[in-house]
This record gives sequence, C-alpha cells and structure tokens, in this order.
Amino acid sequence: MPSSSVEYCYFCGAPATSREHVPPKCIFPEKKDSGVKEDLRKSLLTVPSCHVHNLSKSTDDEYLLAILSMNCDNNEIGRTQATTKLARALLRSDGLKLAALNNPVRRHIYDPSRRLILETAALTVDPERLKRCFDHIGRGLYWHHFNQKRFTGQISAHIEFLVNPGNDLFGEFNHPQRRLRELASHAFSSIQKIGANPSAFYYQVNHNVIELYPAMRLVFYEGSCITLVFG
Ligand SMILES: [Zn+2]
Repeated sequence: MPSSSVEYCYFCGAPATSREHVPPKCIFPEKKDSGVKEDLRKSLLTVPSCHVHNLSKSTDDEYLLAILSMNCDNNEIGRTQATTKLARALLRSDGLKLAALNNPVRRHIYDPSRRLILETAALTVDPERLKRCFDHIGRGLYWHHFNQKRFTGQISAHIEFLVNPGNDLFGEFNHPQRRLRELASHAFSSIQKIGANPSAFYYQVNHNVIELYPAMRLVFYEGSCITLVFG
C-alpha cells in the first residue's frame, strides 16, 4: 500500500484499522424510529481509528445515547430517540440500565421558556464517563474540522445540561447551569452550525472565546449542549 493512503488513528496516531462515527451513529435516529420522513443519518462524519480506540467506545456510546436522549430540554427527535432506540437498548442490557437509570429521584424543575414548573426524574450521571465520551467526540471533530490534524492537548468539557440539585426545588434549582448555557449560547450565536442533520446534532467552532484555543459547542437534539475548550 502506498504510504499516502495509510491513515492514522485520530486519537493516538497508531495506524488505523477502521473508521468510527463522530458522534456515535446511535445518536442519529434510524428511519423506523425518527417519526419524520426525513433521513437523519445523512452524511455522517467518520474518522480513522485504531482497534483499541474503536473498541473501547462501544459501551460508552450507549451510555451517551441514554444521558443525551433523556434530557428534558430536547426536541421531539431526542424524545423519540429515548422511547425507541434507547428503550430497546435498556431492555437488552442490564449493565446499561444500572448505569443510565442510576438513583432516580422525583424532582421539579423550572422551565423558563414556558414559565412552568415540571415534574421529572433526576438521575445521577457518571461525570468522568460522560467527559470521556465528549473527549472522544471533541478529538474526532477536531481531526475532521482542522484538516486531519490530531489534537494532543487537553479538552475541558462543560456539560451545560447537568444540574446540581442542591437544596432548593424551584426557581434557583438549575440557575448556575442556565447561566452557563446563556453565556455559551451568546458566544456561539452568530457562528455557523455544521452538520447535515442539525435536528439531531450539529457543532460550532469559535476561535475567539479564549485566545489561541478554539472552543467547540456540540448541540444534540437542539437542547443538549456541551462546550468543549481545547487547550
Ligand atoms: Zn488509537
């Protein structure tokens, strides 16, 4: 094989053995589940990956699907993904059930857009596992976006939809996260949205938030937002 055709893992730089989807394919609804006629798996991004970095992700991918699709801020696409794709995965896997439906507690949250207090279930997430998922996605998107360049620095992930229940139930319950989300929304408001299926996922790249370091915002189901800072 000529050396120009050899591809290298987006994560570690070892020779690639396959390609993996960024973000994971399970995030995007299958046609039978989407409830809309539109194909939401158009032009999905893939990056070259070594065996180790492709394999290590498979259980994390379903965990990520669970946490993202159960977020109550999502659009209808996300809600449907939770009641179809995720529901099937939960039936199949006790491990996923244990991890994803961890410590459910009945809670009330304030929805400022509708000015409503809603009853929901709060679940306890594994922040390190989620950050690992977003670290992989960030490195994959960086490789894709910056002309196949591998990012070898640190990525800090700010998961805007996680809340810290604290002691108060209503108005201030999710205040800090709401503020973070407002700031991120403002910083990215005029920046191009990239992705062929934006109702399921798109990302934005901002070079001006912190000098020298790009920041990236991932938006799943128009409601689950994560800001990644590369440094
Ligand atoms: Zn690798």
